[in-house]
Amino acid sequence: MSSDAFAMAQQQFDRAADALDLDTGMRKVLRECKRELIVNFPVLMDDRSIEMFTGYRVQHNLARGPAKGGLRFHPDVNLSEVKALSMWMTWKCAVVNLPFGGAKGGIICDPKQLSMTEQQRLVRRFATEISIIVGPEADIPAPDVGSTPQHMAWFMDTISMHTGYSVPATITGKPLSVGGSEGRPEATGRGLLFCVLEAMEHLGIKGTGSTAVVQGFGNVGATSARLLEREAGVSIIAVSDSSGAIFNGHGLDIAEVERYKLEHGRLAGYPGGELITDEDLLALECTILVPAALENQITAANADKVKARILAEGANGPTSPEADDILSANGVMVIPDILANAGGVTVSYFEWVQDLQEFFWEEAEINQRLRHIMSRAFRDVLKISEERKLTMRTAAYVLAVDKVARATEVRGIYP
Ligand code: NAD
Repeated sequence: MSSDAFAMAQQQFDRAADALDLDTGMRKVLRECKRELIVNFPVLMDDRSIEMFTGYRVQHNLARGPAKGGLRFHPDVNLSEVKALSMWMTWKCAVVNLPFGGAKGGIICDPKQLSMTEQQRLVRRFATEISIIVGPEADIPAPDVGSTPQHMAWFMDTISMHTGYSVPATITGKPLSVGGSEGRPEATGRGLLFCVLEAMEHLGIKGTGSTAVVQGFGNVGATSARLLEREAGVSIIAVSDSSGAIFNGHGLDIAEVERYKLEHGRLAGYPGGELITDEDLLALECTILVPAALENQITAANADKVKARILAEGANGPTSPEADDILSANGVMVIPDILANAGGVTVSYFEWVQDLQEFFWEEAEINQRLRHIMSRAFRDVLKISEERKLTMRTAAYVLAVDKVARATEVRGIYP
């Protein structure tokens, strides 16, 4: 994982600021994060020993509303990464026009090495430590890599215990039984599907006869693979997770792959495909490539090998700015992360609205509203890209940065 993720996020921002001819003062404001909270805290382990953990909560910009962004539980979490992810959240919320600013958080840990009781103590103490800046009107976390609906439930319970009554709108991505939303677990993959369908229509590509390759078989990757197969008729020829990549030129049966992963906890060893390297996976001939693992996967070193027609970024920050230039020169249509994976935060927004209103919607209504928002955002970005001859990423940034800059400007610089 890149330790200079924030430098990359700033570089992407600079490209948009140049395209918008943004004023110097506004550039200075939007290039930095508003708040960066670092917490070091003890957790009692099952063997009665005490371990210290480090966590973060960063808020990038709050001009358009309360902060929103996930919590990452991973050994490689670092401040630069959390800052980059929080900045991307600001742009993402603006691209799909949600009334939120951007934030992100995380804990340096490997949840797989912790028992459930240790995880519970970790999440409760972390929630308490960052409670000074989060809350339903201030900053609403959600799941990200390594965190689950159960973690969200413990977080919500902790904040509710402090408050004295249940505050479900404190966090999103919760189980349904405590104010979660229908459609939230699938939302990011479903939003990505809607973007890919728009891109295919624009490029005159049919689902049947098309192929897709998915890197990362977690929440976003597995859902994207399942929906592309089931709802777009695309043949999924390769998928990977941290244990390895599996390939089948005739198409994998995604339901079967999911069953295998559930049973064995990994993809390596799946009998219906051939084991290949992650490097080979990214270079496969296919219609759609979906990086849905972590940052910095497609770089100047391998971008030239990408043979996909559409690159739909399920992950945040999978493509470096240098790789973007190569992909653009090679005619690959990139659906940037801040657009392609915005379905998750969109349904998180629906969850927050439902919790505040204590009135819950049915899944069909949620998916329909999600489709409307994703398709509109895709078309808005495509229009800017075509009119101003910009890549889809810079066009998405132009749309987002302009909205955030206007909100920041109209509010004025305090005091
Ligand atoms: P997850 O933990 O459910 O899944 C991550 C997957 O990536 C796992 O299967 C893991 O094995 C795999 N992986 C890790 N390293 C890998 C490697 N080097 N090669 C191949 N696979 C690898 O996480 P997730 O929630 O699906 O998030 C994935 C990405 O999507 C992240 O970048 C996250 O920020 C982004 N994202 C998630 C959401 C969401 O709603 N969950 C929303 C927007 C963006």
